[in-house]
Amino acid sequence: LPQIGVLALQGDVREHVAMLERAGARAVPVRRPRELADLDGIILPGGESTTMYKLARTFDMFEPLREAIRNGLPAYGTCAGMIMLADQIEGGVPGQETIGGLDVVVRRNAFGRQVDSFEADLDVEDLAVPFHALFIRAPWVEKVGQEVEVVARIASGEAVGRIVAVRQANLLATSFHPEITGDHRMHALFVGMVQSRLDAADGSPAKRK
Ligand code: GLN
Repeated sequence: LPQIGVLALQGDVREHVAMLERAGARAVPVRRPRELADLDGIILPGGESTTMYKLARTFDMFEPLREAIRNGLPAYGTCAGMIMLADQIEGGVPGQETIGGLDVVVRRNAFGRQVDSFEADLDVEDLAVPFHALFIRAPWVEKVGQEVEVVARIASGEAVGRIVAVRQANLLATSFHPEITGDHRMHALFVGMVQSRLDAADGSPAKRK
């Protein structure tokens, strides 16, 4: 089974671990840089991106994560994790940096302060049946670069058309929390990305020796 880490500095780590296991991966909470070497993929959970950034610095995880992801480690960022993967953020606090890699501009707390949380059914690229998504003080994707594939948008209401799921090469990101609503299809999509990268590497000279 592919081994997928869940960054365990903050956020709902246990829920992600459970969903990954249902989606056919071995899941491990990850806190230390040396644990990254054993991973075939990593999830950056929701929480609070400013805090997650500070904790990543404190635990010396920020640069190692950035390097691993730049070197192709598949990563799935949910909510605050999406913010961490974005190359640019709007509404960040001064000094807040991101790991980056996703060529997008993400707006923090985009749905407005009044709208603390809400649920919506999303048509997700590659999923036959809509995904019931839970948003908690969520960001949206304000702008996407050429290499970025839009995977889901808000279908109705005031925020209609807003981009809430994207994919680019080894990276997947969603504004919502797929670990809470009991549907493991987003995790399965990510496990699929991880598995195809492993399959591709198997055929390569580097892995065969
Ligand atoms: N608003 C949070 C942030 O800016 C994200 C919220 C979440 O992850 N549920 O990091």
